[in-house]
Amino acid sequence: MATIGFVGLGQMGGAMSRNLMRAGHQLEVFDIAEDAVAALVADGARGAASPAAVAKGKEIVFTMLPIGKIVEEAVFGPNGIAETIAEGSIVVDMSTILPTETKRIGERLKAQGVGMVDAPVGRTSAHAVTGTSTFMVGGEPADIERVRPLLMAMGEMVTICGPLGTGAAMKLVNNYISAVVNLATAEGLAMGLKAGLELPVMAEVLSHTPAGRGHITTTWPEKALKDEPSPAFMLDLASKDLSLALDMAAALQVTLATGAVGKQLYASAQANGHGRSDWTTGMFRTLKKMGGVASR
Ligand code: NAD
Repeated sequence: MATIGFVGLGQMGGAMSRNLMRAGHQLEVFDIAEDAVAALVADGARGAASPAAVAKGKEIVFTMLPIGKIVEEAVFGPNGIAETIAEGSIVVDMSTILPTETKRIGERLKAQGVGMVDAPVGRTSAHAVTGTSTFMVGGEPADIERVRPLLMAMGEMVTICGPLGTGAAMKLVNNYISAVVNLATAEGLAMGLKAGLELPVMAEVLSHTPAGRGHITTTWPEKALKDEPSPAFMLDLASKDLSLALDMAAALQVTLATGAVGKQLYASAQANGHGRSDWTTGMFRTLKKMGGVASR
């Protein structure tokens, strides 16, 4: 099997590169942290002195770095990947960065005949260790098929999102929702504690409701995902319940900042005639209109 290049051996990259080796691949690796390289070398990888050295003679080079500027430096900076990588090779960036950064890097690589695939990672570093990561992937279909077996050696699901940059865009959609739901969960549970509820009780209840399980697999499939306005639960009622929660928070003197902003958006949805629609479809239609998003 051809040797694979890997740049960035942190929490994620260290674990993922070990999974590639476990699947029988030879790796040449680089990280600015010498101890990270030494740990991989102890496990059987070849250590390199720079990204350029990693990329020399490799058909596929992975990057797993903190931010876009560092990915750009590792590719195009002094002793970067672009200095040595051969025409027809592929750079696979798995870092979480902006789609505009991904596309800029991809266009420059394309100009020298090198492909790029963006494959940001769903799930956590614990899944990276167990080889159960998920990937949201953008790029040319032929390039994606070339790297798919390697991604599957590090994870268990590859979702093709579209052209280069769509993996990065999907990752930010995912992480935006995740960050806001985490925040709303913290706000809600803090209010619950002050109202006298026990954490295990709240956890049990929420484990069986859309609030705890997430909307995309519960309330959305039959309604918002189909643009179906007939209500399973009316937006007017959701808005009323949000007001009740805000009233309770005011009485308890706890903060529901996300809900306070959300209340304004529910009011906007109602003002635009969505009060009697399903709450998911009504809110989705409202936000698409506000953002000038064409309905699909
Ligand atoms: P990390 O900080 O543990 O690892 C980053 C590695 O990059 C470090 O080992 C660091 O020394 C190295 N590095 C920094 N600059 C470098 C350079 N110029 N050249 C070579 N190596 C360099 O971070 P992480 O948790 O592995 O995350 C990596 C990326 O994956 C981030 O974009 C992160 O947002 C994303 N991500 C992380 C998780 C997670 O659970 N940790 C999950 C999904 C996605």
